[in-house]
Amino acid sequence: LGGQRQPAQQMPLVPGVKAIIAVASGKGGVGKSTTAVNLAMGLAAIGQKVGLLDADIYGPSLPRMAGISGRPTSTDGRKLHPMENYGVKIMSMGFLVDEDAPMIWRGPMVQSALQQMLGDVLWGELDVLVVDLPPGTGDAQLTMAQRVPLAGAVIVSTPQDIALLDARKAINMFRKVDVPVLGIVENMSYFCCPNCGHRAEIFAHGGARACAAQYGVDFLAEIPLELAVRETSDAGRPIVVSDPRSPVAEAYRQLAMTV
Ligand code: ADP
Repeated sequence: LGGQRQPAQQMPLVPGVKAIIAVASGKGGVGKSTTAVNLAMGLAAIGQKVGLLDADIYGPSLPRMAGISGRPTSTDGRKLHPMENYGVKIMSMGFLVDEDAPMIWRGPMVQSALQQMLGDVLWGELDVLVVDLPPGTGDAQLTMAQRVPLAGAVIVSTPQDIALLDARKAINMFRKVDVPVLGIVENMSYFCCPNCGHRAEIFAHGGARACAAQYGVDFLAEIPLELAVRETSDAGRPIVVSDPRSPVAEAYRQLAMTV
């Protein structure tokens, strides 16, 4: 991969979009999409014009998490209007296929779908387009990293060794393709019992901070494991919008201010 990033092949920056930020993880299930949604809504909460692109073609989860369904429309039969909720413009493969329909596609089709979701969507004027990448270091990640002028990538990991191992791979991938790593978010960092206040470090603690120090990147946030994060996300009302005064929502807004 080293040196394969060829600027000549890059798509031009999506017109009107000032910066594209990818949210990535080495492993699935660590809370990458949850972070991407709350980061996007946190950016909107601090006054930014924000778009959110679900680059997970095989398992799009943003429509449900962002509480929006339906089909995007087109005025000219070519370009699609993005969907919009909570002040954020959103595009996902989930709007274009039925929720339980599998995407049985090979890599080049994924690549062209991603390019269309960037280039053939009327994003309008945006300060930031947040891209929720699928987990791992495969086709979609490479398309985004090599063909799209990314301002940087935010890596999400739990503190668990096995998740951090894969987070390191994600960092190394972005480094190989010259995408700046903006830093690491430790999700499910700890759990505080709502009844007795006891703090349990279910997936261990602090590993992402140590990993950030090891790689010389910023440690961006510690997000606790919290019932409300999961519930609000399942209900399509992310915690940043449904309970903006909660400490977790504040942590996401801080993250939005940092990136
Ligand atoms: P990924 O995008 O990495 O696959 P998701 O964002 O889909 O992960 O999260 C996986 C599951 O964990 C979801 O059910 C989500 O609601 C839940 N989850 C994510 N972060 C938290 C958190 N901080 N507290 C509680 N549940 C969380």
